[in-house]
Amino acid sequence: MIIVLKPECSKEQLIAFKENLADTYGVKVNTWEGVHSTVLGLIGDTTTIDIDYISAQDIVDDVRRVQEPYKKANRKFHPEDTVIELSNGTKIGDGGLVLMAGPCSVESSEQVCEIARDVKASGAQILRGGAFKPRTSPYAFQGLKAEGLDLLKQARRETGLPIVTEIMRVSHIDMFENVDIIQVGARNSQNFELLKELGKLDKPILLKRGFSSTIEELLMSAEYIMAGGNDKVILCERGIRTYENYTRNTLDLSAVPILKSLSHLPVIVDPSHATGKSWLVESMSMAAVAAGADGLIIEVHNDPKRALCDGAQSLTPEQFDRVAKKVYGLKNYLTENE
Ligand code: PEP
Ligand code: MN
Repeated sequence: MIIVLKPECSKEQLIAFKENLADTYGVKVNTWEGVHSTVLGLIGDTTTIDIDYISAQDIVDDVRRVQEPYKKANRKFHPEDTVIELSNGTKIGDGGLVLMAGPCSVESSEQVCEIARDVKASGAQILRGGAFKPRTSPYAFQGLKAEGLDLLKQARRETGLPIVTEIMRVSHIDMFENVDIIQVGARNSQNFELLKELGKLDKPILLKRGFSSTIEELLMSAEYIMAGGNDKVILCERGIRTYENYTRNTLDLSAVPILKSLSHLPVIVDPSHATGKSWLVESMSMAAVAAGADGLIIEVHNDPKRALCDGAQSLTPEQFDRVAKKVYGLKNYLTENE
């Protein structure tokens, strides 16, 4: 962190300020005295320093971070990739490609079990499905809630596929005890109270990027979970809001290599919510794999036209089968030609 002091800062104020920084934050303070102003360089762990507090001091002219504000999610402090292993041995982030697939919402036992069997046969390793749905309209289908969780578990018993499903509030955490991966959706990406509580669990968390979150904000959300002790975080790029409205969101694929260089956490891509259009899912899935994604989360429905949620972006099981073949083919090619 670099702090530029105002020219009128006295010697006494400078000494007191430096002592305060060193005592409060345990950092080493280097000083450069120029003709017009003095510049301080803070060396050490500056993640806990509140930049607003520093800039509010009378003698401070400007303050800049030169180090990222996240530590636990930062590759600099944890160079090796984090690999998340599920209880059935499925690994996320080990250099392979993980496919998570299933309906936007769990609608019935037949629906989720049939889709689970189909996506498994196509090579998916994890079943997705929403039980609690964050819908823009209060009049839209809100999910089967607790019954939806039971149906997902039934599909897991029948197929052996681990399940990933979205949580929306802290008071539901106990209900998610037997869920393999808890999803935090785009709308809750900065629900810091929820993130803090999820940080107390020993369970993988799939953290989606908020519509308007920067890459750094997504990593700070991951940091909230990790600061509580849970380092099993999977980051998910699912498109951001831009002025382009042909697609539901704009898939920021450059976020994949950027996140992978800034952080050691696994990164997956959701081409379904990113585009909102089923015909774009295949090409964006291929592009995500080429960009280095550790996995994909794709919506699949046995009857997309009648889906209670997100039918337009859902693949049929046959379409998913084709996408799975193509992305695994591409992944194999990339691995062999590394
Ligand atoms: C979902 O995965 O069902 C979902 C609601 O996604 P997002 O939070 O990315 O909109
Ligand atoms: Mn959806």
